[in-house]
Amino acid sequence: VSGELLQPQTGGLGMPPPTPLTAPFWSGCEAGELRFQRCPECGRAEFPPSEHCRNCLSEAITWEVSSGRGEVYSFTVVYRPVTPNLHVPYAPVIVDFAEGFQMLTNLVGVPVDGVQVGVPVRVRFVAVDGRTLPYVEPAG
Ligand SMILES: [Zn+2]
Repeated sequence: VSGELLQPQTGGLGMPPPTPLTAPFWSGCEAGELRFQRCPECGRAEFPPSEHCRNCLSEAITWEVSSGRGEVYSFTVVYRPVTPNLHVPYAPVIVDFAEGFQMLTNLVGVPVDGVQVGVPVRVRFVAVDGRTLPYVEPAG
C-alpha cells in the first residue's frame, strides 16, 4: 500500500539459534551494537562472521563495533512472502556500511515506493521472537 511505512516483522521468523561463531554478533545486537569482524593483517572488514579472513585467510580476525551507518547498495520489495508468517510488503536490502562490509537486512520506516539505491541508512534494533534484529531505517 503506497504511503504506508514499511514495518519490522512481528514474529514467527524461525531463526536458527546463535552458534559460537555468531554469538558475538547477536550479543552485540542485544547491547545496541552492530558488530562485524576485521582482519588485522590485511585490514579487510568481514561480514557475515567467519573463522578466518576471506581475503588472506588469517585466523587473527577480531570483532569491532560499526557506526551502524551506511547506504542501500541493492534492494527488492517482497509482496509474496516465503512463509505465511511474514507480513508484506517488506524490503530486503543489502547495505554498504561505512566500515567497508555489506549486510543483508530489511529496510523499515519508509514508504514502499521510497526504497532506493544510495539512500543513507542507520541501524535500528528491533526485538522479535526473543532476539534483537538489526533492521535499518533512513538516516536523514
Ligand atoms: Zn586478511
